[in-house]
Amino acid sequence: MRIESTVRGVRAFVDAARREGRSVGLVPTMGAFHAGHLSLMRRAVADNDVTVVSLFVNPTQFGPQEDFSQYPRDLEGDAQKAREAGVSLIFAPSEEEMYPPGACTWVTVDRLTEGLCGRYRPGHFRGVTTVVTKLLNVVQPDRAYFGEKDYQQLQVIRRMVRDLLIPVEIIAQPTVREPDGLAMSSRNAYLSPEERQAAVRLPQALQAAADLVRQGATGADAVRRALELLQSEPLLRPQYVEAVDPETLEDRSASGAPLVLAAAVMVGKTRLIDNIRVNG
Ligand code: AMP
Repeated sequence: MRIESTVRGVRAFVDAARREGRSVGLVPTMGAFHAGHLSLMRRAVADNDVTVVSLFVNPTQFGPQEDFSQYPRDLEGDAQKAREAGVSLIFAPSEEEMYPPGACTWVTVDRLTEGLCGRYRPGHFRGVTTVVTKLLNVVQPDRAYFGEKDYQQLQVIRRMVRDLLIPVEIIAQPTVREPDGLAMSSRNAYLSPEERQAAVRLPQALQAAADLVRQGATGADAVRRALELLQSEPLLRPQYVEAVDPETLEDRSASGAPLVLAAAVMVGKTRLIDNIRVNG
């Protein structure tokens, strides 16, 4: 497995693979790999001849009060895990490599970025769509892999690729969870033992709410139930629970399945998100 820090180096590697007729998969990440990241990598390795994993803690998707400087970084440990997963190349660029001096060009997706996390993280999705566009331009993969854990991000990227006619297939992987149901996240490392225990209420609340919808309740009933359960755990401060259309992310509180129940909570200083899809 190679590690490259320059756009030039990645392009040379990918060009050589393409000349030999090999297919290329890309898995964009911010590192601190856990089983969720590894499931994306394994899927990419299974689907493609060559798998590139980008590892870049993207400053433009963090707000000024957010955890950019503390975000866990472990290139050596990550490289080991990626190698074991069969990854061909890690692209770990510097900030200057991704944002050349004077950079002032942004990619923005309207509408889908306005609700859910967009309301609580102004500018976040603009940072995500801009960096993902750059990564797609650098690697020009046949397929790119994203987790359903970040459901809004996944739908925003699908929309962006369609709207900008970017020639790549977007492939989603289901959320990988801890044995008690908590979605794996690099940010779980911030939780104290008490907070970690309380955090399990997030998937439990969404699961209970999803069960209600399966029994015929509306999105609004489900949201109310989830909020009750979240609020009864003193260490959790819910930001939102919403019932939305699985594709457009428009409000679906008045209707039943199919919908996605999505939530964000603060646990101390840590922000956690999760979602569950209820099919019709
Ligand atoms: P991140 O490093 O947090 O930016 O995540 C990189 C990719 O891994 C994104 O597409 C995430 O949606 C995905 N991902 C993160 N956590 C999980 C998880 N628990 N299960 C599946 N995919 C995940």
